[in-house]
Amino acid sequence: MSIIVQKFGGTSVADSKKILAAARKAIRAQKEGNQVVMVVSAMGKNTDALIDLAKQITDEPPAREMDMLLSTGEQVSVALMAMAIHSLGHKAISLTGAQIGIMTDSIHTKARIRSISTERLREALDEGNIVIAAGFQGIDEANNITTLGRGGSDTTAVALAAALHADACEIYTDVDGVYTTDPRIVPEARQTRQISYDEMLELATAGAGVMHNRSIEFAKKFNVPVHVRSSFSDNPGTMIVRDPEAPDMPVCGAAMAKNEALVTVLGVPDRPGAALHLFSKVADKNIAMDMIVQNEGAEGHADISFTVFRDDLPATLRAVDDAVKELGAEGYTCDENVSKISVVGLGMATQPGIAGTMFRALAEKGINIQMITTSEIKISVLVAREFAQEALRAVHEAFELQSPPPDGKLHGDGSPRHATPSEAKLLARLQRMEKLIIEQIDLDETQSRVTFVSLPDIPGLAAQTFDELAEAGIVVDMIVQSVGRGNRANISVTMPQKDLENAIRIAGQQAESLGCPPPTHCPKVAKLSVFGVGMRSHTGVAARMFQSLAKEGINVELINTSEVRVNVVLDGRDGKKALAAMKKEFADAMV
Ligand code: ASP
Ligand code: MG
Repeated sequence: MSIIVQKFGGTSVADSKKILAAARKAIRAQKEGNQVVMVVSAMGKNTDALIDLAKQITDEPPAREMDMLLSTGEQVSVALMAMAIHSLGHKAISLTGAQIGIMTDSIHTKARIRSISTERLREALDEGNIVIAAGFQGIDEANNITTLGRGGSDTTAVALAAALHADACEIYTDVDGVYTTDPRIVPEARQTRQISYDEMLELATAGAGVMHNRSIEFAKKFNVPVHVRSSFSDNPGTMIVRDPEAPDMPVCGAAMAKNEALVTVLGVPDRPGAALHLFSKVADKNIAMDMIVQNEGAEGHADISFTVFRDDLPATLRAVDDAVKELGAEGYTCDENVSKISVVGLGMATQPGIAGTMFRALAEKGINIQMITTSEIKISVLVAREFAQEALRAVHEAFELQSPPPDGKLHGDGSPRHATPSEAKLLARLQRMEKLIIEQIDLDETQSRVTFVSLPDIPGLAAQTFDELAEAGIVVDMIVQSVGRGNRANISVTMPQKDLENAIRIAGQQAESLGCPPPTHCPKVAKLSVFGVGMRSHTGVAARMFQSLAKEGINVELINTSEVRVNVVLDGRDGKKALAAMKKEFADAMV
């Protein structure tokens, strides 16, 4: 018999009427011949209310007790849901995370799932029950209740779907599906019918807020198609799948992560291992660093900037403070009033001019870009928070995301771009649940780097730079704009080696007309990409990369991170050695 997992978010179970409506949906699915597992969140804003209560008692509640408290929200809703199904004349049983056997690690308030036993679930299903699982919670080895992080019920749902080999995972929520951006900020936003795991992953952490990013990591790892749809309408919703039949649009969505903080560590000794030390300190506190950018070193020192969630800033600064002392760095600065704007799309890698379009849209509004990072399918910029909403609107409009995509024309030749993992691979992965998985490590030795040095940090400069490069027909790959000192910023780009001369000429002319120092370049760089699932949410990945490179004495020139990749650029001579080091480092995660 086929198994369906249906997840209902907080707004979908906010009151007794809505609980009954959700119960009817599950009953209908059962009557259609499916075994049904419901995953339910806490009612309405109950989790917020519980957090608020705790804060009234203390500023720093122990994380273990926080989990004890927060898990009660879901316990209330699963019990009520089971009662609702009983009252409608059907069999149901509610189960907590512990009763199901969702085992996690012991990182309270952001625990990761280690294993799920399906026996009790299957037994209850075989007895004809609708099984109602409490979302967002689990239990650690010592029987402590844990929670999976805000929004974690999505992850419970997809994880149960993976463990049960379910035929479908439906996420019922208060919106119609995944939009090109947040419709509360950009009313013209359009709903997408299909989106790939990779795009959704980038969008989720870029701030799209529709789904918990770890749930998409699960879906991708185990190839679970996820159907996001509204509890309150019959709109067809959005399918999140491996290979969407998307029309040929370079950009599928734009997103804003509003509450970010930027930290710059000044004067880090420019030697192998220094960056590693800093990253490990932060990773040890389980804080995910996002946009990581290293400024080209000067006089043996480099500045390293990165962003974190604003809520993580105090803990981050404690780690940074230690690292600065231990490294003998100059100091650090931070800005807690920044937001990240990203555009995402699978088609981006092959179409020139995408970056230019984005930077131009911001320049036209007079919005300054403080930092840039890119991945194959995402471009992110950092702007002052006061301009964030305007920036998002401008970018959404520049890519005409409000208009329905043209019919017919599909990506490439329509053949799937990702191999579906084999049965054996899926089984091996099931043993690892939320552990890091590295799918591929690539070395690209075909590129050069040019760095525009000490550009005045004013609106429009990135746009001008990229317009000129695009006009010369140069397709840039990685773009990194670092935080400059004294209102000066460096922009580094990589491009095919054949375009190097042209790019140096353009950069040289620009430097001359702006009165900046001449550009620097490296004729042959090696770009190493580590591609996988959980690259960012596993906080130690970048640190491990740097560790293995440092051990070989290899210096890193540029870094770009995203949800699905970490890219580093090195001197071309180090490529092969670096590739070997990386393959060794991640051998255990290559499943
Ligand atoms: N109730 C939890 C939260 O509000 C989990 C969830 O809704 O997914 O974050
Ligand atoms: Mg929620």
